[in-house]
Amino acid sequence: MQVRHHINGDWLDGDGWVDSLDPATGERLGAFAEGGEAQARAAVDAATAAFAQPLWSQNPRLRQQVLLAWAAALEPRRDELARLLTLENGKPLAQSLGEIGGAISEILYYAGLARHNPGPAMEVAPGEFSALFREPAGVAGLIIPWNAPAVLLIRALAPALAAGCTTVVKPAPQTALFNAAILEPLLALDALPAGVVNLFMESGHQGAAHLVTSPRVDVLSFTGSTATGTRIMQDAAPTMKKLSLELGGKSCCLVFEDADVDAIAPRLAAAATIISGQQCTAARRVLVHASQLPAMKTALRAALAALPLGHGLAPDSRIGPLIDHRARDLVGRRMDEAEQSCDQVILAGGQPGDPALRDGAFLLPSLIHHRDSGAFFCQEEIFGPLLVLEAFEDEAEAVARANHTEFGLSASVWTRDGARALRVARALRDGTVWINDHNKLFAEAETGGYRKSGLGRLHGFDALMDFTELKHVYQNVGTV
Ligand code: NAD
Repeated sequence: MQVRHHINGDWLDGDGWVDSLDPATGERLGAFAEGGEAQARAAVDAATAAFAQPLWSQNPRLRQQVLLAWAAALEPRRDELARLLTLENGKPLAQSLGEIGGAISEILYYAGLARHNPGPAMEVAPGEFSALFREPAGVAGLIIPWNAPAVLLIRALAPALAAGCTTVVKPAPQTALFNAAILEPLLALDALPAGVVNLFMESGHQGAAHLVTSPRVDVLSFTGSTATGTRIMQDAAPTMKKLSLELGGKSCCLVFEDADVDAIAPRLAAAATIISGQQCTAARRVLVHASQLPAMKTALRAALAALPLGHGLAPDSRIGPLIDHRARDLVGRRMDEAEQSCDQVILAGGQPGDPALRDGAFLLPSLIHHRDSGAFFCQEEIFGPLLVLEAFEDEAEAVARANHTEFGLSASVWTRDGARALRVARALRDGTVWINDHNKLFAEAETGGYRKSGLGRLHGFDALMDFTELKHVYQNVGTV
């Protein structure tokens, strides 16, 4: 499989080819065309020219039809796309199928919203009228990560297109084949004007950096780490462009004394090991009432140890590899350091001994117990299968521990006491709080971060706002 850049309606070769590998085996899956600043410039040119045409930016009915046709074309390819996603990203096939289903559902959601663009009009004084128009913001640059490359592409691209923007997509190199494959049915539509959706790939960052600094890119939507998001904010400042930044997290699960520990431990284990712990909202810290600490240690250890590691296409596999060997080594080192400095190792992680997994980027899950929430492994986002267990004495301490972080992406509260659940949810400084659940993300509900977890919201109606400007038009027509 070879994929090329798509700029101004044409598939184009690049500056050589870059291999894409299966992280479970190290085998070559195919290659993508190398790109960089030249491709980014050409893509921005094409998107700028396309935005100047009213055909797309002033035509919500066409935009809806294009989104509906894309969703319809993806339906029969669900299985094929899920398989490719598993091969390139490593996640178990069931997770890939769920992600493709969620992505198609999200395109349909924004297809509906494409035609919902009301603005108020008012007479502010006799004969003086004001109207407010939601206009597309212009050219949107979209930098997409590898961990959920279907949903995280579509939750940015679909609202950008629904709003009437033209776009330049830069996928992560680790999942470039998949991103090209999911975009291909959209790019093949006759109804899609040339230059509205442009795609370029690169193994480095020059092209992405151009999207950030170019004054002709009006909105930059980035999903990735807080470190890169900070750099993007600095580099974009001279252009004053609109920024949508979906960044890192360190999600806490607060488990109160009335919770059924044996029943919820397997759900916490799944929440911590989703995409091998490489999800921004994955469970990272379990804060449990002190009376339940011994039971939680036993139940969580058993639940994590019961999750089979394996190739994502193997039917019983529940934890796939990390995204690549570099990530395995970096994350593995940080997990080792955490195990060496914590109060107690409950389940040791590390590379699996199974020879069948030797060539893959696998890491076993690790569970540790610690008292000091200031420890680096309670504060730093470690993007892998590490779970920290902490105890609290009362509700106030639980909330204080959970809010002791520079992040603010998501958390969950586990209790049968409805008033407590809502009270604690309100007190947590996070963009999303789940009650008796974790990692529930879907098209209708906005997600985003407080504090260093980012700016703006994706999913939901609010995501459209990130891709629009509000214009006030005034006219004094006098009176009869
Ligand atoms: P990353 O920040 O390392 O890289 C993301 C992308 O940034 C890459 O494609 C790279 O090309 C680009 N990039 C690097 N330097 C750049 C620069 N100077 N200018 C412009 N672009 C540049 O992130 P990652 O490791 O690929 O992804 C993991 C991170 O993503 C985690 O921190 C995770 O929490 C976060 N994430 C957040 C959400 C969310 O919704 N908040 C969702 C998924 C992932």
